Amino acid sequence: MVDCSNDDYLKGYTMTKFCKQCEKKVTGCKKNNHKIKCISCKKKSAANNAIAWAKQNPDKMKGFQKKYYDSHPDVIAGKIEYRRKQMKLDIPLRMFYAAKARAAKKGIKFTITKEDIIIPAKCPVLGMVLKISEDAACDHSPSLDRVIPAKGYTLGNINVISHKANTMKSNGTLEELEKVVLYLKGELSC
Ligand SMILES: [Zn+2]
Repeated sequence: MVDCSNDDYLKGYTMTKFCKQCEKKVTGCKKNNHKIKCISCKKKSAANNAIAWAKQNPDKMKGFQKKYYDSHPDVIAGKIEYRRKQMKLDIPLRMFYAAKARAAKKGIKFTITKEDIIIPAKCPVLGMVLKISEDAACDHSPSLDRVIPAKGYTLGNINVISHKANTMKSNGTLEELEKVVLYLKGELSC
């Protein structure tokens, strides 16, 4: 109800008013106020004002958020748990966030989106069928590779290959990996 009950002399006297915003009838108002708003419009404009204020005060909002999360550890734990469950179901999303974290840690380029991560049926290097494992990565787990490590996670430089192939390749350059092959063949001379 619109609160305008302070005018005692108008008690019991009801005027028909219309919301200036949505033009719906506002009942129970006794005030001669042309700027009246219905409850739902009042709520809407209060919400809009709050959003506008939040946009203008991002630092204060961060403070409020921190305070809230600090005093509601169950909420933050629930959020983490929800994200963990989502990640378990969404393998490209899991790979996306893991790669993003690695890139930030190593200070390398990261410009891909989750949609750029496409998991093939077989490892393009070793030909083995890629399988998702629940826990730790195995040889056949899909793994996001930077073809040329220094180029980072950028479109055209990423491939999903088997964990085994990625481990063997590691951050080796073509020349270094060729030397590994020669070593395995017993042809390395130095
Ligand atoms: Zn209204």
